[in-house]
Amino acid sequence: MVTSRQHRLNAQRFINGSKGQGREKFTRYKELFSNRRLCFKRIFVPLINSRFFKAKEVYKKGGIMIYWKEVINFAKNGNPTPDKRVEKTEIAWLKMLSPEAFRITRKKGTERSFTGELCKVYEPGEYACICCDTKLFDSSVKYDSGTGWPSFSQPIQENAIKYELDSTLGMTRVEVMCNTCDAHLGHVFKYGPKPSGLRYCINSVSLKYIDNDKKN
Ligand SMILES: [Zn+2]
Repeated sequence: MVTSRQHRLNAQRFINGSKGQGREKFTRYKELFSNRRLCFKRIFVPLINSRFFKAKEVYKKGGIMIYWKEVINFAKNGNPTPDKRVEKTEIAWLKMLSPEAFRITRKKGTERSFTGELCKVYEPGEYACICCDTKLFDSSVKYDSGTGWPSFSQPIQENAIKYELDSTLGMTRVEVMCNTCDAHLGHVFKYGPKPSGLRYCINSVSLKYIDNDKKN
């Protein structure tokens, strides 16, 4: 049985302990903030490189941030108007695309996970539609979701992507397509990284990587 004296002692020990820890923590932070270089290296650099700020940059570029609410709204009530339209016959698409790209983009196929060439690409650049070259995603919002398909948290601009409800496979998902040529790209899911909370799960073969440094 624990006596009241022991209780008091334990409580005292706990208070002293936490005081000690608090003081220690305070000293550590004081040191960190007093050393400007260390402060910059440990706090500001990771903050600037964080996905939140990178996504914000894309937000500034495209002028808008898309959340799940907007995705559902587009899928149910109509998509934004694209800058231009590209329409071709099935024969024309068949001639210009590889058999795999045709199967996925024009016939709504899905590539096997972890097989896409762009799964492991994280270099700066942009990703365009394999069919019509319209820019769809920026590399700054590409991330490794562990699913085996290239994943992005935002489109490059609001009207680049077309959304449609897809009820195949016995569940309702949101299909994403190129808004310019209707190429099937993949699906978008919620529970992605902040701030948008979205995961655009895209077939690698639907995309073309553009290295901006090479182009210039
Ligand atoms: Zn396209």
